[in-house]
Amino acid sequence: MTRETLAETLENIALLLELKGENPFKIRAYRTGAETVMQFPGNIVEMARQDELEGIKGIGDALRQKLHELAGTGKLEYWENLRGEFPETIFELFDLQGIGPKKVKALYDELGVDSIAKLKEVAEAGEVAGLAGFGKKSEEKILEAIAFRETNSDRFRLGDVADPTQMILDSLKSHPDCLRAEVGGSFRRGKETVHDIDFLVATKQPQALMDHFVEQGWVKDVIAHGKTKSSVRLENGLQCDLRAVSNDEWACALMYFTGSKEHNVVIRGRANERGYTLNEYRLALREGSDAEAPPTFAEEKDLYEFLGLDYIAPELRENGGEVEAAESGDLPRLIELENLRGTFHNHTLASDGKNSLEEMADAARDLGLQYLGIADHSKSSFQANGLDEKRLRAQLDEIRQLNRGYENEGENFRLFAGNEVDILKDGSLDFDEELMAELDYVVASVHNAMTLSESEMTKRLVKAISSPSVTMLGHLTGRLLLQREPYAVSVPDIIDACADTGTWIELNCNPWRLDMDWRWWKLAKEKGVKCVINPDAHRTDNLQFLWYGIKIARKGWLTREDVMNCLPLDEIVEALSAKRNRA
Ligand SMILES: [Zn+2]
Ligand SMILES: [Zn+2]
Repeated sequence: MTRETLAETLENIALLLELKGENPFKIRAYRTGAETVMQFPGNIVEMARQDELEGIKGIGDALRQKLHELAGTGKLEYWENLRGEFPETIFELFDLQGIGPKKVKALYDELGVDSIAKLKEVAEAGEVAGLAGFGKKSEEKILEAIAFRETNSDRFRLGDVADPTQMILDSLKSHPDCLRAEVGGSFRRGKETVHDIDFLVATKQPQALMDHFVEQGWVKDVIAHGKTKSSVRLENGLQCDLRAVSNDEWACALMYFTGSKEHNVVIRGRANERGYTLNEYRLALREGSDAEAPPTFAEEKDLYEFLGLDYIAPELRENGGEVEAAESGDLPRLIELENLRGTFHNHTLASDGKNSLEEMADAARDLGLQYLGIADHSKSSFQANGLDEKRLRAQLDEIRQLNRGYENEGENFRLFAGNEVDILKDGSLDFDEELMAELDYVVASVHNAMTLSESEMTKRLVKAISSPSVTMLGHLTGRLLLQREPYAVSVPDIIDACADTGTWIELNCNPWRLDMDWRWWKLAKEKGVKCVINPDAHRTDNLQFLWYGIKIARKGWLTREDVMNCLPLDEIVEALSAKRNRA
């Protein structure tokens, strides 16, 4: 039982009560309860189990009892009964882009829509357009969202799979017959979305590992259970495959199962030229070849070395020039998590974040960061409770005061006062230059009018970048992985404009975004544009997103020199003012 499960159950209760048309106060009580559970500073799961939630604001008696039952028994009768009144498929609808609970309720009440399949049917028949609050356009949008979901239904965001993957890897490693274990495939290469997870173990007892793998509590279905190969499906639909090899086969197998296919083709070709064949288990002499007999390889790097190459990090294995660079000794020394010294784009309770300024600062200090930039939303993002001039100035004062405290205590930590300023439709910014000049930095982002043409959108961003106050461009394309396509914009033109103005480009490492995409960073780097890795944290634990940022930055061939927030505190202060004072 986790904090998330408690909160999610309350959220789901609220959704179903809404569908039933229950009293709005009752519905709101569940929503507030869910928020309270997420934000509560103590161990709320344990407290709920002990029935110690009395007196906590936001959790009334009815909720307290339900949380106690849920945390204590892992079940909640009220919830089981409630969900029994609806088909299981109803929750699919809430995940669909662009449809809130109100619309789901209208569709359910008027057209009996209780699944995506049913929704597709009525939308295709043109029945949705006629409903109050809908129309032809929203019917089209619904069909688009369904189509998008269908093409992506078998893919997962890195953020959705990282925890289960680590859990399974740990469980394999803890088995006494496991010599080595690793994750391969696109997860290891740091792709932004993955189709399945490939695990590899080296062992003398493959069957024991296979049995262990399929017997775990998190396995929902066993797809295959063989001697050296098994596949399972987890509760969330993710397929996980396990291969067992011998220790001598490890290096070749790990490379093979890490891929990419294109990378492996090039490496196999190279082995061939040298008189060998390379497959998933070993490098062997080709028939009739007079090359020297190959050794067994302990590690991947020994295999690469034998083929005349420097070790190629998994993130680079996309056949994007990495083999050539490995041959000539020109591979970059890729950035590592430990290189980060701070981060800039983070929210607090002042806009739509879930933690206070101080809580965010403490979390950053716990991570060993030297600085944290606060960039709450600006006034035009009213749906995210964006700050107006007055509230922004008040926040600025609060930040300065906290900084004086750190200074007095001799701490090498500092908050930077920034803002995520909306780029308005015409490319102007949501605050005037005078106010922005009082801030330490500005993240400029698009949050509305995303349907402009490519040339209009490009012009809009180029204009925003031309402001000397804009330090960095936030989530460049606005994409939400597996949910919303990037808006139309010419990325090369934006990179050029950033090069001209010295504007940094954000690598937004919220796993829903991972934007700018890794495929563009090589170009940005060639043009001399700097990267800044930002979690866009809305909660203290979102600072962990930096891990994804590092994965993607490595995939984009970036080194610590390319990423501004690798600079230590004194140097980043200089860099911020240098950006502003650039002629
Ligand atoms: Zn944003
Ligand atoms: Zn943001």
